Amino acid sequence: MADRFFPNEMPTFVAESTVSTGAAGGDSLTNLLSLPYKSLSDHLKSAALALKETVVRETWGLSGKRVQDYTLYTGALGTAYLVFKAYQVTKNDNDLKLCSDIVKACDSASKDSGRVTFICGRAGVYALGAVIAKHSGDTSLQQRYLEKFKEIRFPSDLPHELLYGRAGFLWACSFLNKHIGKDTISTARIRAVVDEIIESGKRLAGKGRCPLMYEWHGKKYWGAAHGLAGIIHVLMDTELKPDEAEYVKGTLRYIIKNRFPSGNYPSSEGSESDRLVHWCHGAPGITLTLVKAAEVFGDKEFLQAALDAGEVVWKRGLLKRVGICHGISGNAYVFLSLYRLTGNVEYLYRAKAFTSFLSDRAEKLISQGKMHGGDRPYSLFEGIGGMAHLFLDMVKASEARFPAYEI
Ligand SMILES: [Zn+2]
Repeated sequence: MADRFFPNEMPTFVAESTVSTGAAGGDSLTNLLSLPYKSLSDHLKSAALALKETVVRETWGLSGKRVQDYTLYTGALGTAYLVFKAYQVTKNDNDLKLCSDIVKACDSASKDSGRVTFICGRAGVYALGAVIAKHSGDTSLQQRYLEKFKEIRFPSDLPHELLYGRAGFLWACSFLNKHIGKDTISTARIRAVVDEIIESGKRLAGKGRCPLMYEWHGKKYWGAAHGLAGIIHVLMDTELKPDEAEYVKGTLRYIIKNRFPSGNYPSSEGSESDRLVHWCHGAPGITLTLVKAAEVFGDKEFLQAALDAGEVVWKRGLLKRVGICHGISGNAYVFLSLYRLTGNVEYLYRAKAFTSFLSDRAEKLISQGKMHGGDRPYSLFEGIGGMAHLFLDMVKASEARFPAYEI
């Protein structure tokens, strides 16, 4: 199965209030796209809440509330993250109680795990647990999760990337400081991790043309999940010294200069395969990093590069999977991020087009075998959990954030 839909089924932006769907015109997708924004977001909200019920039943209820995979990426913590998002939109206390119960089960299931990140490790369990406890007004539970978080120690062979490495732990620190309060995780603790990431990046870069470089399983990845874009994205959420900010900017300039002629980005250093347009590998994840760079540094070159990368996502991003890691939902977040940065409604309509496509067609196309439901079909990163999160984010599009990635 090819990676994405044939071009004539891709929504093409035409004017501010309409989106043409080419060969698909005149059907239910067009009807959805012509709805006023408020009606569309009401429609997406009820679709999201129904999807959430399915996700909870499949990943929690049917397993007898026993957790095998505790991670946010493909496991129960992802369900808790989605249910917490639903709580933030609906303020239904049952949702808050439910996500608290799921995190408790993840806590038990992860006690012997050596993983330390937000997305694939214990930092996610403790950080999300502490934030949910804060919303529940349970100060002692919040304290217990924070203590466990502070007891996390790094294994000696820890990589630097986002899913399994230091950047993924650092992200959890920034998440806590945003949602619990400044200095919940001390500047000294954060500084020590930033130092390790920068020093290691300089060492591997050596005398090369890129100031920072990292490896994961022997490959110098560029994307958000395992590579430069993800690591640099997280570094920009921290207080960088002036020379460190220059290393980060230099690294961004290097990847911009060495992108493919199509505007897409290689998945790793030296790769000539211009194929993947995913959050994990390729332009979508890199767009989010460029948006962050434009916000943090204010440089026009990063803004322009973000807009350029966003065009690639629009032209090639209507994938045959639904998830946020390598599917349409993740790519829709690129337009929401560009909308937040620029205020340009064209990006809101692009997000609306991808989201409406999912809402109107994903279930049918998956049942017909024309779309792939994901290896973990109910998970946050690979399945309909991420799609439900996107639909909930469309209720207040200007406040949308890519789950576990945009602070
Ligand atoms: Zn992926």
